[in-house]
Amino acid sequence: MGYERLERCALKIMDYPHKCTPDDLHLHHLINYSKARGNKEVRKILKSMVEFQDGEPPHPKELTDWVCAGANVGRIADTKGAQCVLFQLKVKQYGYEYMSEYLAGLPWKYPKPELRLEALLANSG
Ligand SMILES: [Zn+2]
Repeated sequence: MGYERLERCALKIMDYPHKCTPDDLHLHHLINYSKARGNKEVRKILKSMVEFQDGEPPHPKELTDWVCAGANVGRIADTKGAQCVLFQLKVKQYGYEYMSEYLAGLPWKYPKPELRLEALLANSG
């Protein structure tokens, strides 16, 4: 399954209302680091997202997307509604089953029902 580098703000693609700055895209972490406080295993996975190697795409692609600087720095992309549409986009790209299993397979120390795909997709309001 290939990684598609988006040329456009993922929130723009999903018609999420925000003041888009399309010429300045940032790699956004779909799950905030703070969520993984005290959890080495998950932090390692999240950290791997920002390590680029010779133009290779960032990994894991399942937990990153390109959003405009305005949405990233302004933390609009971290709101539940934005997170919801960003995971909707992941489902479009990689399929529900795959994303659901990927999220369920993250090595959290304690169960994180709010970070299961079903819960994330329910945050549209
Ligand atoms: Zn945008």
